[in-house]
Amino acid sequence: MLLKNCKVVRDNKIVECDILIENGRIKKISKNINIDDEKVNLKNYIVIPGVIDAHVHFRWGESEKEDFLSGSLAGINGGVCFAIDMPNNKPPITTKELFYKKLEDCKKESKINIFLNFGVTEKNYLENIKEAMAYKIFMVKSVGDLYIEDYSKLKDILNQNKRFCIHAEHKDIINKNMKIYKLERWIDHCKIRDEKSEVEAVKEVIKTLQFIDKVGKYKPHIHFCHISTKKSLEIIKDAKQRLKNVKITVEVTPHHIYLNKDVAEELKGFGKFNPPLRSKEDNIALIKGIINKDVDIIASDHAPHLLEEKLKDVKNCPSGIPGIETLVPLTLNLVNKKLITLFDAVRILSENPAKIFNINNKIEEGNLANLTIVDLKKEGKINTELFKSKAKFSPFDKFLVKGFPIYTVVNGKLYDAIGKNI
Ligand SMILES: [Zn+2]
Repeated sequence: MLLKNCKVVRDNKIVECDILIENGRIKKISKNINIDDEKVNLKNYIVIPGVIDAHVHFRWGESEKEDFLSGSLAGINGGVCFAIDMPNNKPPITTKELFYKKLEDCKKESKINIFLNFGVTEKNYLENIKEAMAYKIFMVKSVGDLYIEDYSKLKDILNQNKRFCIHAEHKDIINKNMKIYKLERWIDHCKIRDEKSEVEAVKEVIKTLQFIDKVGKYKPHIHFCHISTKKSLEIIKDAKQRLKNVKITVEVTPHHIYLNKDVAEELKGFGKFNPPLRSKEDNIALIKGIINKDVDIIASDHAPHLLEEKLKDVKNCPSGIPGIETLVPLTLNLVNKKLITLFDAVRILSENPAKIFNINNKIEEGNLANLTIVDLKKEGKINTELFKSKAKFSPFDKFLVKGFPIYTVVNGKLYDAIGKNI
C-alpha cells in the first residue's frame, strides 16, 4: 500500500512525503515514490504517529459493557492504534494467572495493539509480571481488594524499579465528605470527591516519593492518572523539579478539560465519573499545563457502562463514560480553537505516551506502520450513533468539533475512522 502526499508531523515540523507500507511495516518514506501498488491519496490530511490511549477499561469479563473486540474497533474508529487497559475487572487482575488469562483473550480478540496493567494490592506488590505495561494503584476502593487502604504501605510498594499508574483520590477525605453530603443531586458527587480528595492523595504519594528519592536505592516511575485540578498540577510540577531519583508523569482527560461543575445537573449520569467534574479554573489550568508541558499526556479513561445504568439516579449511576472515540476529535478541536498547537496535540496524544510507556509508534522505515490520519479542517458534530463501542452515549453527543481522524493504520492495515462518516 502506498500512502501518497502525506503531511507527516515529525520533530515539530510537517514533512511532505509518500509512505510505502509492505507486510505491515513502513518500507520506504520518500518524496514521489512511484510503484504499482494500491494507492491512497492523503493530500488533505495530516499523518501523525499512531495515537496511544494510555487509559481504557475494555471490561474483560463484562461483555455486555465492552470487550476487546468492540473496544478495539472503537479505538480504530477514534484513530487510536494502541491502548493500555486497566485491571479493575471482575475479578480484578491481581494474580499472575488472571493476568495471563486476560492477555490471552486480549491477543485473540483485539484489532489494535493493547497492553495490560497489573493491579496492585497490599499483598501482591512484589509480584513481577514481565508483560505488564505498568502496575496500577487505586488509593480509593475499586473492585474487591484492588486498592491500598493503608497508605503507610506506599513506602514499600513504590520503592521498586517499576512503572506505577496511580488513581489519586484520598479515601479518608471521601469518607469524611460522605458523612457531610448526602448524594441527592449530581453536584453532590463532586462535593464528596472534592478537590481536596485529589490534592491530599497526590501529596501523600509525593511525600512517599521524597523518602524514596532520598534513599535513592530504587528509581520508580510514577504516572498520575487523570489529574483534574490546578492545585494537584502545581504540587506535581514542584515535585518533578525537586525529585531526581524518581520519574513523575501526568495524564489528563478531555472531559476534565471541556466540562465542569456548572453542567453537572444538566449532564446527569453522563457527567458522573471519577475524579468528578471540577471548576472552570481547573479546565483552564489543564490546558495551560499542556502548553507549558506540566501535563505529559492526554488519555480518555474510556469507561463504558450500559446506557440503562447511566440513566439511573445519582446514587445508582455507576461512574465513568466512554471516551476512546472522542479523544482525538476533542484534542484536535483544542488546536482549532487555538488553545494548543498541533505539535502540542501530537506530543500529548502520540509522542509522550510512546516515551512514557516505551511504545514504538515512530514513523520510520522498518517500523510497524501505526498511523493516525487526521483532517484538521473537518467540522461536524460528535455522533454517538457512529460509535463502535457498546456504550453509545457521551456528554459530547451533538457537540460541534473541528478536527477528526479519517483513517487509522494499525500494523499496516488501513481502516476508516469516525471522521470519514461525519
Ligand atoms: Zn480509569
